[in-house]
Amino acid sequence: MSLADDPEITRLSQAMADLTRPRCGGPTCGWQGKAKFNCCEKMYCDIAEEYANMLGVKVDKPGPIDLPYMGKTGCVMPPHLRLVCTVHDCQINNVGADPKDKKFTAHYFILRDALNQRLEKVDSKSIDDTGVITDGSKSVMEADQRRK
Ligand code: SF4
Ligand code: SF4
Repeated sequence: MSLADDPEITRLSQAMADLTRPRCGGPTCGWQGKAKFNCCEKMYCDIAEEYANMLGVKVDKPGPIDLPYMGKTGCVMPPHLRLVCTVHDCQINNVGADPKDKKFTAHYFILRDALNQRLEKVDSKSIDDTGVITDGSKSVMEADQRRK
């Protein structure tokens, strides 16, 4: 099994994406629906693409040139290949928790810990709450902090 096709990483990443995605545009969102694709930006598509390529996976780009993985009904990059987007939550990123939603915070960290344990087991990788994937002390993929 690799990071690209491990069923547990795929399952946990999908669960994390299902948890974090609805928060964009919600009550804690700084954009409040002002932007069509909220904080999706080409640079995050590029980071996801670089990671997918590193794992030997190529994903079609149905979106516009400035947001290549955004298809008509949403992002087509699978959650386990766009971890930088999947694990992103503004409250977690900014203050390390959502003080008004303890249930979300607990669920988030249960999933992230499980994801990290599996990433570590499969390929000695882990990911932090800003989307930086590390290999021990060495950063493998850096996420930008502009969403803060
Ligand atoms: S990343 Fe944060 S600011 Fe951007 S759309 Fe999602 S919740 Fe809103
Ligand atoms: S990879 Fe998908 S979720 Fe991430 S920025 Fe691009 S369109 Fe948005």
